[in-house]
Amino acid sequence: MDRMPSGRMNRAFKYDYEGLDVASIKQSLANRMIYAVGKDNYTATDRDWFHATAYVVRDRLIERWMETMRTYYREDTKRVYYFSLEFLIGRSLINSLLNLGFCDETREALLELGLDLEAIADLEFDAALGNGGLGRLAACFLDSMATLSLPGYGYGIRYEYGMFRQAIENGHQVEHPDNWLRYGNPWEFPRPEVLYPVEFYGEVVQYHDERGRVHHHWQDTDEVMAMAYDTPIPGYGVDTVNNMRLWSAKASRDFDLRYFNEGNYIKAVEDKTDSENLSKVLYPSDETTEGRELRLKQQYFFVSASLQDIIARFLKQHDSLLDLPDKVAIQLNDTHPSIAIPELMRLLIDRYHQEWETAWEITTRVFGYTNHTLLPEALETWPVSLLEQLLPRHLQIIYEVNHRFLNRVMHQFPGDVDRLRRMSLIDEEGGKRVRMAHLAIIGSHTVNGVAAIHTKLLKERIFRDFHELMPERFVNVTNGITPRLWLHQANPGLSGLISRYIGHDWVTDLPALAELATFAEDEEFLEAFRQVKRANKESVAASLADRVGVRVDPTSLFDVQVKRLHEYKRQLLNVLHVVTLYNRIRNGQADDRVPRSVMFAGKAAPSYRIAKLQIELIHAVADIVNNDPRIGDRLKVLFIPNYDVSTAVGLIPAVDLSEQISTAGTEASGTGNMKLALNGALTIGTLDGANIEIRQEVGEENIFIFGNTVEELEVLRRNGYDPRSWVNADPELRQTLEMIGGGYFSPEEPNRFKPIVEGLLNHDRYFVLADYRSYIERQKDVDRIYHDPDVWARRAVLNTALMGNFSSDRTVQEYAEKIWGVKPERNL
Ligand SMILES: *Cc1c(COP(=O)(O)O)cnc(C)c1O
Repeated sequence: MDRMPSGRMNRAFKYDYEGLDVASIKQSLANRMIYAVGKDNYTATDRDWFHATAYVVRDRLIERWMETMRTYYREDTKRVYYFSLEFLIGRSLINSLLNLGFCDETREALLELGLDLEAIADLEFDAALGNGGLGRLAACFLDSMATLSLPGYGYGIRYEYGMFRQAIENGHQVEHPDNWLRYGNPWEFPRPEVLYPVEFYGEVVQYHDERGRVHHHWQDTDEVMAMAYDTPIPGYGVDTVNNMRLWSAKASRDFDLRYFNEGNYIKAVEDKTDSENLSKVLYPSDETTEGRELRLKQQYFFVSASLQDIIARFLKQHDSLLDLPDKVAIQLNDTHPSIAIPELMRLLIDRYHQEWETAWEITTRVFGYTNHTLLPEALETWPVSLLEQLLPRHLQIIYEVNHRFLNRVMHQFPGDVDRLRRMSLIDEEGGKRVRMAHLAIIGSHTVNGVAAIHTKLLKERIFRDFHELMPERFVNVTNGITPRLWLHQANPGLSGLISRYIGHDWVTDLPALAELATFAEDEEFLEAFRQVKRANKESVAASLADRVGVRVDPTSLFDVQVKRLHEYKRQLLNVLHVVTLYNRIRNGQADDRVPRSVMFAGKAAPSYRIAKLQIELIHAVADIVNNDPRIGDRLKVLFIPNYDVSTAVGLIPAVDLSEQISTAGTEASGTGNMKLALNGALTIGTLDGANIEIRQEVGEENIFIFGNTVEELEVLRRNGYDPRSWVNADPELRQTLEMIGGGYFSPEEPNRFKPIVEGLLNHDRYFVLADYRSYIERQKDVDRIYHDPDVWARRAVLNTALMGNFSSDRTVQEYAEKIWGVKPERNL
């Protein structure tokens, strides 16, 4: 696909651009239905029409895609490769139509055939090749890189099964496999000829050549083949279409042959499925490490194939690998792909015969590393014993890197043995393990955090020693979201309104939204803005009646917490507020409160017991509250199953209040916070992650901040945090906990939620109890402001208007300038 035209043919094929007018699209739809799907209008199902439509769109992408690849070759552009174990893309049909600019024409063409574009688009399976924020960030970056015409490639794994589908049965989470490829994926192009071997296990032998140089030979390995699948990534309003290349595991032919020769046919086929299991399934844990061998194999598999591919592409046009850093930047999305560092060293030294020093210089000039977490349980380490078996040559290289690095530290800080222990690549305590974050820092030219406070804490806390040694290496690049998906596509009502007032440029220039601030006092605009929100809420209320079976009043305050279920995100704090509000309403202490619909959505990792119990608690509370005649419409609690990108796109435009309530110092950035505020939700949140920068932008008056700061929590910790003392001092909190722990919401099983309450009373690692009172008070302020629709709408408008800084276009531009050194390269 990105090959230069071969010698025989010095020019690309001539082609006619497929037309973008209604008549051409209609003709193409008929053609694609017949010749690609193989059906006629008598036999075609709606899903067939989805496929035919996707092919019509794809046909119009391909020409631009190939032209983009040719342009990068012709101009010998420096490219950036985004290495990520996750790409949480969602659906592509509407996104591609909007980015290419013929959505309305396609809608019209389908209508003339008696079909509804939105209904057809709803049949597409989400490409859910990610867990949450980290994978969605990668997807937003792909959209922004293409839109900015940056030569950016995504590299990852084509999982056969993506993020599990969450079903709720009797209030419990049940996981179902996500068989997203069942009906075929019209966006991908298999490239059976783009195939690389990836080696595992075996042993390393050393030998000396005739000049006395030491060489390493990694031999007797097991081999798995990596086969490429390419997906075009169109930019918005430009001809640039970039590429995402995902690898799928295929059994190696050689490997099969050994058994075939022994006449063991069945065994050969069995082993084939063994190696093909490598790319079978996405690991569903977010913010915690998965220590299994298969996970490390996945990491190395995609990294090794990608590096071989990148080097092959580079060598088509260059002779010397010394120039690699001038043409190649690789960004590591967290430490998941950090085995790329010793892998590039291995390729340079063992395959291309570079000296160690040269290889190291090349390597460290190529890589940048993005850290995504401060939680210790999410910092990856791998047992030395596992690496020794699986990747013995890489372990040798890691040891050598460590040896040289610690020498340097020793010279800089003579006699500081404890510092050496802290900074070592090897954690010697309790079974040796390799610290992947240390490897990523040492092997990269730049390390970045994803929000200002996160980067500050990286420097001061978890990577303090490294910052002291090389302060210039650490930079901040605050996360962003693509306005194409999260406003233009998700919220057509608001998008249309905005464009009528300030024009359409905001789609690629989000700071232009600031002009809306001048309309925050304009009655007509405010009224229109309110009506858009109202219409969005009505449509969500209708679909919730279907999907969840609960009727919510569209005039009620839509109070929403949607994100992965995790203790640090503190869905539990939200539940404590719900129960408190329930009690107050029952006691007649809340007669002045506005009706509220509190909505949750989010998946728990299948092995995360306490998070799953919290899902049960939310359902149990909902069951009691929603059916209590004393409550009526004044409080509703809903859990929306299977939170994914499509659910987010459907729900976020209808939200009034965005819950961003993680313990200060735990959420690296958050991006959900940005999506909601951009769509005119007010945030109730802690001073954590990007909430801090959101407050800076939208103004303190337009956000509800509560809770202890990082510094205040530090003091609490230092003085010995005693969760029970907070309960003893607060009778309302005590009552709430007693109801949950004592079986009020689980009368048939009174002890069911005791583990949750015990966790709070004995540890409360995330300071839920310490923030409870200030959260309850802030929620009362929310209620007071919502009472006045004008005041609320004005603040909501200012949120939308002042979120311009959180476009992933800004984020990606910062990476391009500060880290990658790449420039836009437009198609001719
Ligand atoms: C944006 C997004 C996330 C991340 O949300 P946070 O609130 O930042 O944790 C997770 N899942 C999906 C489907 C998303 O779209």
